[in-house]
Amino acid sequence: MPCPSSNKNTPTHITQINLHHSEAATTQLRKRVEVQHNFITLIQEPWIRAGKVQGLSNTKGKLYYYTQHEQPRACIFTSKNIRAHLLTDYCSRDNCAIKVTDEQGREFVITSTYMPEAEDPPPAELTRLTHYCESEGLEILIGADTNAHHQLWGMDRSNDRGITDSPLCRACMGDEETASHVILHCPAVQEYRVKHLGSPRTLPEITDNIKGLLGFFGELGWLE
Ligand SMILES: [Zn+2]
Repeated sequence: MPCPSSNKNTPTHITQINLHHSEAATTQLRKRVEVQHNFITLIQEPWIRAGKVQGLSNTKGKLYYYTQHEQPRACIFTSKNIRAHLLTDYCSRDNCAIKVTDEQGREFVITSTYMPEAEDPPPAELTRLTHYCESEGLEILIGADTNAHHQLWGMDRSNDRGITDSPLCRACMGDEETASHVILHCPAVQEYRVKHLGSPRTLPEITDNIKGLLGFFGELGWLE
């Protein structure tokens, strides 16, 4: 990702967050980013009142969102020194896209996207936007709340979007999801491994421990 900042020596902080329409969360976010010299914040479900995003449009930053809907669910808040403009053709209630120009004059696209559970993802505007970026040779960064749920991520339940057909381990995404990886090595499930299985070094060590295995995979939510 090229640095879009006006100051080469200062990194640009890029954050993605769902604010759940909360005034308090908005205040916390604003306090955090306002001390950063360069920031781009990709927000879903911002705090709204009377059709307008609240709490972010002040002198410290620039706020971008689709204003043709009473309850926009995606917006982008940047520091004032980020050169960008709204890509209105690709914006909607659930998609906010901007084109950023870095100090070398290179352009790239950043989008904040909300994917409601009741609708088939991704939003049509995001699909069109990715086609546009492909045709123009533009890099794109997508910051999304996809509403993908999995118990492994601390959710009460899993949903279809939280289930992947990738061969990579769904917990750490760092290695293939084999039995030995998950049971013996995966760093992301270490806490559950110790709790249910101890610290096994080989698979034969735990083949008698059916109760432990069921507890382990049950807590991961992988028995469903
Ligand atoms: Zn893993």
